[in-house]
Amino acid sequence: MSQAEFSDWTKVVKSTAKPDSHTGAVNPPIYLSSTFEQPGLDEFGQWDYARSGNPTRDVLEESIAELENGDRGFAFATGMAAISTALLTLKQGDHVIVTKNVYGGTFRLVTEVLVNYGISHTFVDLSDEKALKDAFQENTKVVYLETPANPTLQVTDIQKVSKIAHERGALVFADNTFMTPILQKPLELGADLIVHSATKFLAGHSDILAGLVVTKTKALSDQVYFLQNAMGATLGVADSFLLLRGIKTLGVRMQTSSRNALEFVKWLTEQPVVTKVNYPGLETSDSYYLQISQAKAGGAVLSFDIGTEENVKKLIEEIKIPVFSVSLGATESIISYPPKMSHAELNREERLERGITDGLLRLSIGLEDIDDLKQDFAQAFEKLK
Ligand SMILES: *Cc1c(COP(=O)(O)O)cnc(C)c1O
Repeated sequence: MSQAEFSDWTKVVKSTAKPDSHTGAVNPPIYLSSTFEQPGLDEFGQWDYARSGNPTRDVLEESIAELENGDRGFAFATGMAAISTALLTLKQGDHVIVTKNVYGGTFRLVTEVLVNYGISHTFVDLSDEKALKDAFQENTKVVYLETPANPTLQVTDIQKVSKIAHERGALVFADNTFMTPILQKPLELGADLIVHSATKFLAGHSDILAGLVVTKTKALSDQVYFLQNAMGATLGVADSFLLLRGIKTLGVRMQTSSRNALEFVKWLTEQPVVTKVNYPGLETSDSYYLQISQAKAGGAVLSFDIGTEENVKKLIEEIKIPVFSVSLGATESIISYPPKMSHAELNREERLERGITDGLLRLSIGLEDIDDLKQDFAQAFEKLK
């Protein structure tokens, strides 16, 4: 049985624990070495300088490539380092179509960095097929999507967008941070390159920053490998080890958090103070059928509206279990207020246009007992108007 035939639950365990060839150590040792001895003047070993490759990082890069069914994986210092490197496969004069609901850091990169190098962009609501088709220019090289998107959990049809892009000679890059390969495999749906903020679910414990890229073709792998080495934003070995450890439990964590999120969402819809719930795994959600056609579940992140900023303030004072902070995808539940946190750079009008209302909170469900979480929110909701 080859590794490819194993299910993901086996792969997360097998791909992260390749016994070390020298010692048999089950976990890859943390090779704290920036340089590797060269066997002779004209003889070269597998590794030379650690920016170009390190045995610990290699195990991680092979693991994510295997999980996403890609050609090669690449590890970076942060999610933004991964995204920057991927987008710098573009050249001066190229154009990229970016989903309107893109992560704030990617928005900033595209609008304030890439423009300085002659790489132009158009933001498009990717659920609007006509708008997408109209946005293509002769020099459009990439369509960049994120699904489900932050914080309204809007779902993008990866297959449809990929077909439209490929017909016009463009590649598709997908940010798979919210789903992870356990729930969704964009390369199998037509995407050409995947980026991850591994800081979130893949690492899973709010302890490190990390980013990953997975490529579908050898041509893209060669480009990304060249840029990873040329730009140098690689992931350190200790963090590579921690990320491998996080991935080992990805199956159980995603399943539990996702199941708990669905149960919590069903309960939320019955609460009088909650005016709206966004969660693509809920059967009554507009995006439900699209979501389950391309992913195994709705994931662990949801958002909901409790009417006013005043209510939000009171809720975060009263709530005891979730941590009030940015980020998501950890063992602890994390609650955040997008208008003043992740989307603070948008003005109110821009926010409202994206469905980011004054009473909107985002919740990333962790691994706590879901009944405790419901009880905690129930006691806090009682204190709201
Ligand atoms: C957090 C996040 C990023 C950025 O990753 P960092 O590790 O913080 O650099 C990119 N995309 C999404 C969807 C994210 O949630």
